[in-house]
Amino acid sequence: VDPAPERLADTQVQVILRVRPPLEREAQSGTCLQRLSSSGITSTVPGHDPQSFTFDHVANSNTTQDDMFRLVGESLVENCLAGYNSSIYAYGQTGSGKTFTMLGDLNDPEDRGLAPRIFEYLFLRIAEEEDKQTGDNHRVSLKCQYLEIYNETISDLLCPGSTNLQLREHYRRGCHVDGLAEMTALNCEDVMSLMQKGGEVRRVGETNMNRESSRSHAVFTAVVEVATTQESGLTNVRYSRINLIDLAGSERIKSSGATGDQLREASNINRSLSTLGRVIMELVEAQRSHRPSHVPYRDSRLTFLLQDSLGGNAKTTIIANISPSMDSAHETMSTLQFAARAK
Ligand code: ADP
Ligand code: MG
Repeated sequence: VDPAPERLADTQVQVILRVRPPLEREAQSGTCLQRLSSSGITSTVPGHDPQSFTFDHVANSNTTQDDMFRLVGESLVENCLAGYNSSIYAYGQTGSGKTFTMLGDLNDPEDRGLAPRIFEYLFLRIAEEEDKQTGDNHRVSLKCQYLEIYNETISDLLCPGSTNLQLREHYRRGCHVDGLAEMTALNCEDVMSLMQKGGEVRRVGETNMNRESSRSHAVFTAVVEVATTQESGLTNVRYSRINLIDLAGSERIKSSGATGDQLREASNINRSLSTLGRVIMELVEAQRSHRPSHVPYRDSRLTFLLQDSLGGNAKTTIIANISPSMDSAHETMSTLQFAARAK
């Protein structure tokens, strides 16, 4: 096994595969994976030839939460402070480790996921920058938003009951959600408490509507505002965004036999995930060929909302999560194919 890189190359779109360790109940079923290296993997679906894939990096079951932070979190914070919009998308079937990767166990110093580590580091770096400033007055503030997209409907997770929100395009503000709450955070604890509150609102909504958590996309956004006032009195303000997206489970939702609401739900989830795949594919292709291409942002709420953080000067990281178990061979193959297309 090759050693893990400290940090990845600085490209617009990067794709990381994370293989979680087998769970207890999977111990008997064997694995669908072979030949794991730090950038490649071979997988099998019973009855078919093995297929090989390469990624920017493959994180295996020995990769710790801290390794993941060093791999993608640190550079995301630096990019953000340099003025780039940056996003991390967690993709994969339900149970593959998306939430573990993004949030993890907030009460366990080792198992804390990317979000708490990212915001802790962000506030540390902000304090460092403020210490360095002389003469000019340098002020950084952070505003957080947290929304859920379910069935192409947007709900505010920081404002219970605020649902069916509309997307607007503004010539200066870009794309935004009309009426979405924006909460100021002064430190990492503030951010994490907003995330926890939002998570709770999401769970209550699910229970009330009797649906599974795996069916919606959760989008957490921190808008970082850096205002520098020069001695002359002139103030320069710069904004950048950090988006952390816990996507709906990628398992194919059975539309056979489903009717009405169920069928609409299935096709909407599949639509936003496949649109995300196509948007990223177009961006990667445009980057490779240095030619503009048609990017279908408008085909789903998720990509329309995040278009200012996809392409252009933005940095996008996809973390594709898979289970090593033979039981999940088909879903694993489909995740590998999705992630490889984004490369
Ligand atoms: P998802 O959000 O994709 O549905 P979860 O993050 O909830 O999946 O993970 C499913 C289970 O696997 C959880 O019990 C989680 O703690 C465990 N798990 C996931 N990834 C890892 C990992 N890298 N190391 C240890 N346990 C993991
Ligand atoms: Mg989850």
